[in-house]
Amino acid sequence: MAQVYLAVDLGGTRIRAARCRAEGTIEARTEVFTQADQGVEAVIARIESAVRSMWPTTSDTTAAIGLVAPGPIDPWTGVILTAPNLPGMVNLPLRDRLGDIFNVPVFIGNDANLAGLAEWRFGAARGYTDMVYLTVSTGIGGGVVSNGRLLLGSRGLAAELGHITIDRTDGVCNCGNVGCLEWLASGTAIVRQIVERLRDGEPSRIADLVHGDLDALNVEVVAQAALQGDAVATAVLNKSLRALGLGVTSLLHMFNPSIVVIGGGVSNLGARLFDSVRATVKQHVMDPRYICPIVPAHLSGDVGLLGALALALDPPPQRQA
Ligand SMILES: [Zn+2]
Repeated sequence: MAQVYLAVDLGGTRIRAARCRAEGTIEARTEVFTQADQGVEAVIARIESAVRSMWPTTSDTTAAIGLVAPGPIDPWTGVILTAPNLPGMVNLPLRDRLGDIFNVPVFIGNDANLAGLAEWRFGAARGYTDMVYLTVSTGIGGGVVSNGRLLLGSRGLAAELGHITIDRTDGVCNCGNVGCLEWLASGTAIVRQIVERLRDGEPSRIADLVHGDLDALNVEVVAQAALQGDAVATAVLNKSLRALGLGVTSLLHMFNPSIVVIGGGVSNLGARLFDSVRATVKQHVMDPRYICPIVPAHLSGDVGLLGALALALDPPPQRQA
C-alpha cells in the first residue's frame, strides 16, 4: 500500500487534476473546461468529479489534495478571496468544501506562488535554498523561496512580483498601481505597445506578418519581426526587457536569491530575453555579490499540477491569526 497525492490546477479556462507520487511523477491525469460562466457551484461540482476520477482504485491511499487557483488566497484557511477569470469566487472556503466531500487534508494556494514552489522542488531551482521565480505571460506573477520556505507574508499575499513599480511616469496597471513591471513587460504589455505604435503610424512590417489582423498579434510574431530587423518590434522588446531586467535587479536587492527562474510564455523568447535581463542586472546591481544564475523554468505545462503537489507535500505550518 502506497500513498498518492491528488493535485488540482483550477484555471479560468481549464480544470486539470492528476494523481501524483511524492517524488513528482504524475501517474494519471484528466482535464475539463472550467465553464466559470455557469457559476461557482457548477465549478465546484466539476472539481469534485475530476478529483473522484483520479481517486486511487488500488490499495493506494490518498494522503492529501493540493489545489492551485488564480488570485489571492488565504493559505491558512484555504479561502479563495477573489479569483480573476472566475466570477463569483469571492470569499469561497474551497478547502473546507473539498475537505467535507473527500475527508482527507486539502491545501490551497496561489498559482504563481506555487509554480515557484514547483520549480524549487521539482524543476530549475532544485537544490537551491533561496529562489525568486517569475512567470511572464499575459500577466506577471511570482513566488519566492527564502531559506527553504515559500514566502507567504503576514496575510499570505506576498510575492506579487509583477506589481513592483518600475516607472511611475508610465500608465496605470490593471491592479490600480502605476508603471508596474506587469504593465511594462508582460506579453499583454508587449502587444499593447506594438499596437499603439502601429496606430501612431510608425512604419513596421508587423501588420504584414499578421495579414493586417492585429488581434492575431502575439509575442512570437513580435520576436520574429525583431529578428528581421523591424524597428518597432525591436524598440518595444528592448523597452520591455529592460523593464524586466530592472525588476529582476530590484528583486535581487530585496531577496538576495541564489537563483532566479523565469517561466511563462514570454520566456520562450529565450536568449533574447535572458541575455538582455542578465546584461541589465550586471549594469545596475548595487554590488556584484548579488549576481546569481538567471535561468529558464523547466516544468512548462505541468507546473500548476506540480505546484499543487508540492503544496500538499509541504503545506505551510498553521499559525494563529
Ligand atoms: Zn500592477
